[in-house]
Amino acid sequence: GVLVKDAAALEALGRADTLLVDKTGTVTEGRPRVTSVRTVPGASERDVLGLAARLERGSEHPLAAAVVAAAEHHGLALAPVQGFRSVTGKGVVATVEGRTVALGNEALLAELGLAAGSALEADAAGLRRAGQTVMFLTVAGQPAGLIGVSDPVKANAADTLSELRALGLEVVMVTGDNQATADAVARTLGIARVEAQVLPAQKAEVVRRLQEAGRTVAMAGDGINDAPALAQAQVGIAMGTGTDVAMQSAGITLVKGDLQGIVRAVRLSRATLRNIRQNLFFAFVYNALGVPVAAGALYPAFGFLLSPMIAAAAMSLSSVSVIGNALRLRGVRL
Ligand code: ADP
Ligand code: MG
Repeated sequence: GVLVKDAAALEALGRADTLLVDKTGTVTEGRPRVTSVRTVPGASERDVLGLAARLERGSEHPLAAAVVAAAEHHGLALAPVQGFRSVTGKGVVATVEGRTVALGNEALLAELGLAAGSALEADAAGLRRAGQTVMFLTVAGQPAGLIGVSDPVKANAADTLSELRALGLEVVMVTGDNQATADAVARTLGIARVEAQVLPAQKAEVVRRLQEAGRTVAMAGDGINDAPALAQAQVGIAMGTGTDVAMQSAGITLVKGDLQGIVRAVRLSRATLRNIRQNLFFAFVYNALGVPVAAGALYPAFGFLLSPMIAAAAMSLSSVSVIGNALRLRGVRL
């Protein structure tokens, strides 16, 4: 189902020429799974996965859930860590047995003044080309390994996005994820334009830039880190698998998080706008003809006057025609 907050939201969606989609949960299933673990020589995959999962127990990010689930699947015990902190859009850091352990992307490493190491960098490049999200693990400032996570694209996503393009919307993907990963996912979906490595706070900025370029932007997201962007867009579309804050920031909610709902909502919006324009035309024509005739415009030339009774009937019929036309919307094929 599609929930529409108000007429303004529906109207804005009908006029939108750009659909900005958050990669996670919008076009992907939003249930990432660990698909690769790589280590430096001397470390085991269990070490890397176990340590990463101990950190991620403190995070609510979908990537964290994937790491914890994989560790539990392998029967690893996840003892608590000290001094946990999460760095939004970058990763997590904690102290484990007196050593600082960090798990996250290049931006996190840069912030900590660390490097992933050239061997792991090369691994990462290959995984990203396959559309995986890569998280580097460092222990006491040294590279320890990496974890690759896959979030499959939704089964109908490619078809739905081409329907949206056929409706005249340019689809742009926005994500905090790495450029190479995002490009790989975008390619499978035929999305030509990708804004990657965007920090959560900058997502609204991406919307603003598109708007400054004259675009009318519809933004679809799950509300995890993207609520300000949903609010900034001319119309925000909360994917229903997401959060309450998404629904508050958005004009439209797709209850089941199904992209096909956007296609239906665009069609409904355009049919409604067309109907409103037809009704304005009806009302205008009726009044433009009826009012002068009732005022006696035809009397001098033709001796014709409109009886008040007929005028009242015409007025009512104008309302009936407008309502009748609006009721046709019930039969619109979405
Ligand atoms: P998205 O646009 O997919 O919502 P986020 O802004 O939430 O992305 O995160 C961007 C990147 O930051 C992730 O791809 C990941 O590399 C890193 N990151 C964020 N949170 C975590 C975490 N809890 N653990 C590890 N890495 C993380
Ligand atoms: Mg997100």
